[in-house]
Amino acid sequence: MEVKNTNTNDKKRSPIERRKFLQMVGAALAGGSILAMTGALARTTRNEGKFYWQIDYNKCTFCGLCETHCVLPVSAVKCIHAKRICGYCDLCGGYLVSNARTRDTAAENTLCPTGAIVRTYIEDPYFEYDIIEEKCNGCGICAKGCNAFGNGSMYLQIKRELCKDCNECAIAVVCPADAIVRQPLSMPYNLKDAHMS
Ligand code: SF4
Ligand code: SF4
Ligand code: SF4
Repeated sequence: MEVKNTNTNDKKRSPIERRKFLQMVGAALAGGSILAMTGALARTTRNEGKFYWQIDYNKCTFCGLCETHCVLPVSAVKCIHAKRICGYCDLCGGYLVSNARTRDTAAENTLCPTGAIVRTYIEDPYFEYDIIEEKCNGCGICAKGCNAFGNGSMYLQIKRELCKDCNECAIAVVCPADAIVRQPLSMPYNLKDAHMS
């Protein structure tokens, strides 16, 4: 499996990196502390080589292996709900089974096997959907339904605060869509609505 590596260690410093470098030198010299500058440089160098695992949500097919193949007892992969692109639909493809008798919160009408999605009435005909992260096992059933029938506002992502940063992510090894990627620590979460203000 090809693992994305966007490490820039061995590349020429970008203008932004050069500016940060000069700022560090300036700050250290202004404070009269060469030791401080050395420490800051060492920290920067250490972090430059570090990565964390993320899901490329454009590739994920919600196959279910994220739930079963994480090394943790309950997967570090969770459903994220990008509410800014949600349609707040009454007939939510990520919440209701396709043949739901009624559009309500009864277990037989809902998709999530762990009851991790909370549906709240806003105003006719809109409903809000929230994920209880502690209950989510990363199965991706809701995300699959949302992507098939809705805006795709529900999707899967590896939560940084839960992930053990395994040297080789066990999910990446089996992912049929090659959707697990390594990102430098300096890059933020892959969030669908991160670009929206
Ligand atoms: S294993 Fe890959 S395709 Fe399957 S749910 Fe996880 S990221 Fe998506
Ligand atoms: S359906 Fe699966 S991925 Fe979605 S909230 Fe429930 S447990 Fe999490
Ligand atoms: S890196 Fe390890 S802990 Fe994190 S998602 Fe992959 S298998 Fe789970």
